[in-house]
Amino acid sequence: VSFNSARFLISASRLNECPPDSGAEIAFAGRSNAGKSSALNTITANGKLARTSKTPGRTRLINFFSLNREDCRLVDLPGYGYAKVSRDMKDDWQQHLGHYLNDRRCLRGLVLVMDIRHPLTDFDQMMVEWCEHNRLPLMILATKADKLKFGQAKTAMLGIAKKLENYQCLEHLIMFSATSKRGVEECREALNDWLTA
Ligand code: GDP
Repeated sequence: VSFNSARFLISASRLNECPPDSGAEIAFAGRSNAGKSSALNTITANGKLARTSKTPGRTRLINFFSLNREDCRLVDLPGYGYAKVSRDMKDDWQQHLGHYLNDRRCLRGLVLVMDIRHPLTDFDQMMVEWCEHNRLPLMILATKADKLKFGQAKTAMLGIAKKLENYQCLEHLIMFSATSKRGVEECREALNDWLTA
C-alpha cells in the first residue's frame, strides 16, 4: 500500500453515510489535540490531508481517505473531548463512534494517538478496553516524542507498556513524532500488514 497516495473520500456524520462496508479500513482515534491530524498527515506525507484541529467542531465528522490499493481506507474519527463541548455533543460523539466501531465489519484495527506526555487518559483507557473486548488489533502512537528528551520518552514508553502488559489487543506501541518523523516508517509497515493480511 502506498500511503502517499491517500485521498479524501467522504465525510460521514452517521453510519449510513459511510462508504460501503467492504475491503479493509483502519481507524484513527484520539483525544482532541493529541496530534491525530498531524500523525495522519505525516503518515500520508500530505500536510493537508487531515486538517489539524485548531477549531473545535469541524472534526465532528468521520472522514474517510482512500489508498491506492482497492478498497483500503484510513479513517479519521472525531477527536474526543473538547473542553467546551456540551454534554449533548459528547453523547452524540459516543453514539456515532459506538455505531461505527460496533458495526463496521471491514475495520481491521484501531490506531490510538496519544500525547506521550499525557498518555492513557480516561478516553484512551476506554478505547483500549473496547479493543480488548472486541478483539480488535490496537496500535498506540505515543506522539510528540520530540517534546521530550530521549530518556524521558523511553521511560514514558515503558510506563505505557507496563500498564498495558496484560492486553492481548495491543500489537504495536510506537514512539512517534510528526515533527521529527520518528516512528513513521514503523507505523506504515504495521498499517500495511493490517491492510494486506
Ligand atoms: P488533533 O486534534 O489530535 O488532530 O491534533 P493536531 O494534529 O491538530 O495537533 C495538535 C497540536 O499539537 C498542533 O499545534 C500540532 O502542531 C501539535 N503537534 C502535533 N503533533 C506534534 C508532534 O509530533 N510534535 C510537536 N512538537 N507538536 C505536534
